[in-house]
Amino acid sequence: YTREYKKKTPQSAKLFAKSAKLHVNGVSHNIRFYEPYPFVVKSSTGKNLVDVDSNKYTDYWMGHWSLILGHRQKNVKDALKKQIEKSWMYGTVNMQTILLSELISKAVPVAEKIRYVTSGTEATMYAVRLARSVTGKKIIAKIDGGWHGYTSDLLKSVNWPFTESESSGVVNEEKIVSIPYNDLEASLFILKKHSNDLAGVIIEPVLGGGGCIPAESDYLKGIQEFCKKNNSLFILDEIVTGFRFRYGCIYPTMKLDPDIVTLGKITGGGMAIGVMCGKKEIMEYADTTGKKKSERSYVGGGTFSANPTSMTAGFATLSILKNNKSIYSTINSIGDYARKELTKAFDGKGVVTGKGSLFMTHFVNNGTVEITNAAQAAKCDTRALHDYHFKMIAHDGIFFLPGKLGAISYTHTKQDIKKMVLATSDYLH
Ligand code: PMP
Repeated sequence: YTREYKKKTPQSAKLFAKSAKLHVNGVSHNIRFYEPYPFVVKSSTGKNLVDVDSNKYTDYWMGHWSLILGHRQKNVKDALKKQIEKSWMYGTVNMQTILLSELISKAVPVAEKIRYVTSGTEATMYAVRLARSVTGKKIIAKIDGGWHGYTSDLLKSVNWPFTESESSGVVNEEKIVSIPYNDLEASLFILKKHSNDLAGVIIEPVLGGGGCIPAESDYLKGIQEFCKKNNSLFILDEIVTGFRFRYGCIYPTMKLDPDIVTLGKITGGGMAIGVMCGKKEIMEYADTTGKKKSERSYVGGGTFSANPTSMTAGFATLSILKNNKSIYSTINSIGDYARKELTKAFDGKGVVTGKGSLFMTHFVNNGTVEITNAAQAAKCDTRALHDYHFKMIAHDGIFFLPGKLGAISYTHTKQDIKKMVLATSDYLH
């Protein structure tokens, strides 16, 4: 399929050669590169990406899963246009932020206080710092294969897919402890060893980059209970899952009571965002006007935090989601359909994981029938997954970031899934 791809994408090849001279790996996010070169995009609408050679792709990457309503959704675009007419950078308190926060605080019970940043990475970085300030402890536990962005606080030596070290340049790696997903006994065994200095545990309720694997609710409850007893904070990273399956977070449906929740992606409607929210008494450690100096946590923000364009796109997106709850039943059921049909197509050669509108396929080459953590997912044939995704890009005009999970937006239909499943069967047989 490489030959077919090269034939289809001569302009991308030329431009990417230029890009490779200018940028490390030719990209500005490690995962965006794939062999022989990624296509260079020219425009996007709805469920489609169009590259510089005018090839059209059905997109299942959807802006790092941030575009639940599709590319360039009309209301979001109109709201942004209006805002840009007024201004795109104030650097001061603005109305757009208050509007978005009113929506988030109503939809997410733990969001008694909110701080915005411009990426999920920053949100989790501050969540970790806050946990350390609040508890006076240092160690943070994360999940094997959990992904919270590139913050040095959460990069642990060998991570998903457990082949490459992430720790070069990271100091204080010994302050990060890693526990296995969905294995409460093994996780508690590790946590107990560090209980005296455990500031908090950070977990994705659906492991995203680490294999698209939902957490078992008893697992999360068990970890939460341990945290509460141990005076360690229970932090849920809902950067992918927030507003993905329902209007709000997924944790209330699991009867959880986190101390801090991080959001991002969908809440910015496709513009740069990270959100840290939490219980008032915890978030107030970040209050530099009230707290004693010795108790303050320097949870900042940055030049572009709560900028009016991100706030506007977020508000427009959440408003649509709030007023059209059938969006969730629609995309969740398309997700169920995709998992069912892909499972049939793989006929034992693959396991399809995910939840709602998120799904991922794992090529089983070792008799694995169940995937409940990242280590199991990593044992699958990740090369085959990559090749399958590349075939769909090159041959079928279907785009998954090779090796990653797919996201269904409100612009995808069952018909799109049928085509994707056909392309899958074609690859497998
Ligand atoms: N947390 C999770 C669960 C993520 O999936 C990601 C990004 N994919 C991040 C944090 C980091 O967000 P960002 O890329 O915006 O820094």
